[in-house]
This record gives sequence, structure tokens and C-alpha cells, in this order.
Amino acid sequence: METAIVVLGSANADLVVEVARRPLAGETVLGSDTCVLPGGKGANAAVAAARLGGAVAFVGAVGGDANGDLVVRSLVDAGVRVDHVRRVDRPTGAAYITVTPDGENSIVVSPGANAALTADDVWLGSARVLAASLEVPLAVVEHAVVAAERVGARAVVNVSPVARLSAEALAVLDPLVVNEHEADELGDLLALGVRSAVITLGARGAVVVERERATEVPAPRVDVVDTTGAGDAFTGALAVALAGGADLVSAVRRAVAVASVSVTASGAQPSYPTQERMNRSAS
Ligand code: ATP
Repeated sequence: METAIVVLGSANADLVVEVARRPLAGETVLGSDTCVLPGGKGANAAVAAARLGGAVAFVGAVGGDANGDLVVRSLVDAGVRVDHVRRVDRPTGAAYITVTPDGENSIVVSPGANAALTADDVWLGSARVLAASLEVPLAVVEHAVVAAERVGARAVVNVSPVARLSAEALAVLDPLVVNEHEADELGDLLALGVRSAVITLGARGAVVVERERATEVPAPRVDVVDTTGAGDAFTGALAVALAGGADLVSAVRRAVAVASVSVTASGAQPSYPTQERMNRSAS
């Protein structure tokens, strides 16, 4: 199957420990057993897109360690092409996550191998859509979106964590995707020069911002279990719909539907629905 979607971004091992409360400076608290899960914004979006039937290749970097094996295996199991994932001499990226009984989490991300990704790693094949996020070096994402424009691939960039892309890169984003907090930090999104923007609004869905209009896309009311990775499911689903030829508002409707299903189960990647599951929930 020819690759329709290239996802470029981070692959991390999520190391999750439940604690009664967060330790103060200099203090030690005991927690639960460590749960090690495949994660990272890029790998999550790639898995979400492949589950929906997208022909997806992931571009990223992992270490030659067990965590690298874990994240690559999860990509492969979802059907993602991994021949452009480079093994580097750094530990695989890791997110150290403590979760308290109120459901709040505190996270330290150690980028590791993700920081070793270079412009030379960028590969687009004949993809119709490039979906990127920013837990990898900014210069690599900038290079990738400009290259995407050159080969006629549509650039979808989840600007998370927030950073300022070059004007040349911003000018080709169609859309730039951010959550509400990131949108507040960036200010007037269209003034950045992007072709379009999408702001995700959690339980309220999303809004599509184009030059001529803004369109609200409400989310269905669902029983929320765990919102981890909902934004990445949204990006992956958006890429699949756009690669399939949908217009932006229709693609965002599909992405909202998929992301709202993802919050009804726990974990990030384990909660992402297949296309079959989406068909069932629509009928
Ligand atoms: P995260 O950091 O948890 O991955 P995010 O902050 O990037 O998420 P959100 O705006 O919170 O992004 O959520 C992305 C999408 O997930 C929303 O547009 C919506 O479709 C869906 N979603 C999130 N929370 C809920 C919810 N409580 N109910 C229904 N849908 C939700």
C-alpha cells in the first residue's frame, strides 16, 4: 500500500506511577508499580491514523533499548511503516508521569533519541499529508513542512509543545492545530500567516478558523474515562480524513468523533478506535 500519510514526531515510553500525593522538594514518596506504555505525540498520532485504516509511515528516532523496542512494536502492531524510524545512540525518549487520586498528572519528558532527529531523517515519499508535532527539534519540523509544500503534500502541524515556527514554515500550514491553552499563547492564529487553524476545545469539540469564516464543531457528550492522548488521536484522524480528500470542516468533524471515542477508554494508544469501531458508533 502506498504511504498516504507521513507522521513526523516523538516516540516515547510513558512510565506511569500512581502516588497518593506528589513529593515535595527533597522528599520521597512510595508509589504503585510502574506501568510502561508506548507514547509520544508523534507515535500516538501515527497509531491513531493507522487504526482508522490510513496507510501511514512514521518518521522518528528511538534508542537501541527495550523502550525503543516497545514503541516500535506498538507502531508495527497498528500497521505503521517503520523503515524511516532511526535507531540512535541515545536512550529512547521517556515521559515520567505521576498520577494522583484526583486524576491530575505531573510529567517530566526526557527527549533522548527524539532530540537526535535531523533534517536528513525527513522522508515524505509520495504522501498526500504530512502530520507533525513538536516534541522533536523545531528545525526538523520546519524543514519537513517546507519540503512537503514542494512535493505537494498538505502540512498539518500540531504546535504542541508551543514554539514559534519560522514564517516560511507557518505560511504552508493547512491547518495549524492547537488546544485552547496553546491558542492563548499564540494569539491571533491567522495573523501568524497560516492557511488555516484548528483549535481543539476538549469536551466542547473544536473550532475551524479559515480566512472567510470560523466553524464550530461540537463534540458528542460521552462518559469520560481518560483524556490522555486525545489531542494526538485528533491529529491522526484529521490526517486520515484530509488524505482521503475531505474538506477541512468535514475532516475536523471526523477527528472530533474519533477523539471523543478515545476519551472513553484508558491510556493513549490503547484507547484509539478502529474504523470498524467508528462505523459501529455511527450506526
Ligand atoms: P490531550 O493533551 O489530553 O491529548 P489536548 O489538550 O491536546 O488533549 P483537547 O482539546 O483536550 O486536546 O482534546 C482534543 C479533542 O478530544 C477534542 O477536540 C475532542 O474532540 C476530544 N475530547 C477531549 N476531551 C473530551 C471530552 N471530555 N468529551 C468529549 N470529547 C473530548
